[in-house]
Amino acid sequence: MTGRPSRTGKAIRAGGQASAGDLLELVRSGRATTRGALQRVTGLSRATVGQRLDRLFRAGWLREGAGGPVESPLGGRPSITLEFDDEHAVVLAADLDTRHARAAVLTLTGEILAEHTGTLVIEDGPDTVLGELGHWFAALLEKAGHRPQEVCGIGLAVPGPVDSDTGRVVQPPIMPGWDGHDLRGRLARSFTDLTGARTPPVLVDNDANLMAYAEQRTGYPDCSAFVLVKVSTGIGAGVVVDGSIYRGIDGGAGDIGHIRVPEGAQALCRCGSYGCLAAVASGGAVARRLAATGVRAASGSDVRDLLAAGHPEAAALAREAGRRVGDVLATVVTLLNPGVLMIAGDLAGTPFLTGVRELLYQRALPRSTAHLDVVTSRLGERAGLVGAGALVVEHLYAPERVEERLLALGV
Ligand SMILES: [Zn+2]
Repeated sequence: MTGRPSRTGKAIRAGGQASAGDLLELVRSGRATTRGALQRVTGLSRATVGQRLDRLFRAGWLREGAGGPVESPLGGRPSITLEFDDEHAVVLAADLDTRHARAAVLTLTGEILAEHTGTLVIEDGPDTVLGELGHWFAALLEKAGHRPQEVCGIGLAVPGPVDSDTGRVVQPPIMPGWDGHDLRGRLARSFTDLTGARTPPVLVDNDANLMAYAEQRTGYPDCSAFVLVKVSTGIGAGVVVDGSIYRGIDGGAGDIGHIRVPEGAQALCRCGSYGCLAAVASGGAVARRLAATGVRAASGSDVRDLLAAGHPEAAALAREAGRRVGDVLATVVTLLNPGVLMIAGDLAGTPFLTGVRELLYQRALPRSTAHLDVVTSRLGERAGLVGAGALVVEHLYAPERVEERLLALGV
């Protein structure tokens, strides 16, 4: 279920102008999966569709469906269904949190083939972290039984704002030493030095963005306005509109953890300011308040463990944190009018969600919440990985990039 593209799909050129990339997009999105359907949708002749599909077959990107021929709705000969061949390459993906990371080898449709979780400390800086990640990737490929040459791209999720044009993080509050660093270049070098394979494209994005992207595509493909809020060490939000991540002008969209809240006046945030939402309502903030009462808690993941064990003080503080976040989300929901608001991260559970609902429905306009579903994550801790993998695949197989890649393959 993980790789189903959004039904909103990408625009393709009609009126006889469709390229091989457009045909691939129609097949991948499920909008047209037979030669006849491709002719009808694009207005191309039978011969031209045949020529363009032939190039995609020679590249190994398309295959005939396992189900065999299907009856045409218009009568006539049964037609053979076409599908994206998700076995001609693999994707590497990693999701960095402040103290640990998760990495995986994925198929082109988002299935996880091999996965590793371990300690990687963001504060050690990009050189150390991305160097070690290269070793993880090499070991994971071996475990999955794939060669480094089969890797078509690498996706990286990081807990900070990212300029997606350059792949650099921009003034990240919880990633000291990472500001402006060339993450794409460093990770590509780490991978190539270890494996000897050519440098694959590397895409970097904010973790909440990629979690939102994965959850929307897999669970809510018909939802055209989707918001995910990640509450862990920090607080961040990802927004997916019409199947695409909405990043804003500088990659700063959704960085709601640093909105000032009245209750936070005395609370110092990791960004250096006082009064941020993250300083009073994140997993880190709840951990600090628990620690002040003698409970062993140092991070959002400690709070998650306490919540899972039914710790009453942790539950009460999580609910209070939910109310504070819910107050801010009333504004978010009023501005964006989403169909789904998903709560994810260490605090995502009943107490926090109850708190969010209490304030959200009280403060937002009834019209903004009439068709709103407030839900928790479906993909759980894998959402960032799945989103990072999907970002790479959607980038590499986008209609506008296909021609150049086919030419490079000599087909
Ligand atoms: Zn802040």
